[in-house]
Amino acid sequence: MNQKTMIQPCFACFQNSLDKIQSNNHIHNDILELSSKEIHSIESNFKEIESNVNINSSNNIDSSIRPILAWRDPHNPPSNIDEVTHLGLMEKYKIPFIFDIHTHFFPLSVMRAIWKWFDGVGWGITYKGKEEYRLDALTRNKIKYFTSLNYAHKPNMARGLNQWVHETHKDTKNMIHFGTFYPEPGVEAYVKQAVEEFGFQGFKLHCEVSKLDLNTPELRSTFQYLEKDQIPILIHTGTAPLPGEFTGYKYFRPFMEAFPNLKVIVAHMGAYEMEEYASLLDIYPQLALDTTMVFVDYLATGSKPDKYIDNLEKYADRIYFGSDFPNIPYNLSHPISNILNFPISTEAKHKILYKNACDLFRIAYY
Ligand SMILES: [Zn+2]
Ligand SMILES: [Zn+2]
Repeated sequence: MNQKTMIQPCFACFQNSLDKIQSNNHIHNDILELSSKEIHSIESNFKEIESNVNINSSNNIDSSIRPILAWRDPHNPPSNIDEVTHLGLMEKYKIPFIFDIHTHFFPLSVMRAIWKWFDGVGWGITYKGKEEYRLDALTRNKIKYFTSLNYAHKPNMARGLNQWVHETHKDTKNMIHFGTFYPEPGVEAYVKQAVEEFGFQGFKLHCEVSKLDLNTPELRSTFQYLEKDQIPILIHTGTAPLPGEFTGYKYFRPFMEAFPNLKVIVAHMGAYEMEEYASLLDIYPQLALDTTMVFVDYLATGSKPDKYIDNLEKYADRIYFGSDFPNIPYNLSHPISNILNFPISTEAKHKILYKNACDLFRIAYY
């Protein structure tokens, strides 16, 4: 029996279900052996991360946990073939490229564990494959700039993930390096190192997976540092698809009161409490949202996403396009085409799909 805990992927945060899964605490050798061959060559320094991975066979997953999420029209789901059908629409609206602020990069061993988990809950991932393939897919889809989001679900993991991004992706063209952190001794020091030594331009936190209370005093000085230096933090703070111990508006609001000038990007527009999170945009000028998995036919962020299309126009200066690539059960054309087809101004489309993020990271777009 293995005592390791399971990686919970972004959005596959179904704690009750995971409790059931974790009672089947196996490691499956096929995946670990496969990945360890490559880990020896490219990821040998990250044993700590690897040691956190527990692979569970889909055969062991209680079928009562699925389907957890639904398609808007189960008889007509969007394509999961990488067809790049949005390129014509981009041309029509003269969108030169896409900036995707919400893309995940983990060491391959961790990524494989995440994919195995998704397989087990019937969430088919369109973009499984080695990094080379995934980077090609982004290029094919005209996603010129993208981020390196990951997160830790336990202590002694975040620093290793940051090092992995720094060392593995030093030369990855147009990747905006994001790190992560966790309430633990030394957190402020390794966050400073990531910014000042590695040149990271942002951080990602995941309140559900990390069981993270943003209001913990252990992170106060770290948030003060990031607030002072105006370093963006992208946070999955919302209750979708199921709430965690510290998710939702009731935890987020006092956090913003404590750090009113922090540059926070709320993932998934704060789903399921999109109204409440949007109302904070009127109070905090530095606050922003990302569109990740909101305007899509996989209803992970609520059953009526179209209700919020108006907010794309109203808050067009503070909304960033995000996809959750590669862990999406449809192709990249689906969310991009939807935004391009919405009845919002062309200027709003330009802002959301690349201009806002380029401005945030001081990247020229002409
Ligand atoms: Zn998320
Ligand atoms: Zn995500």
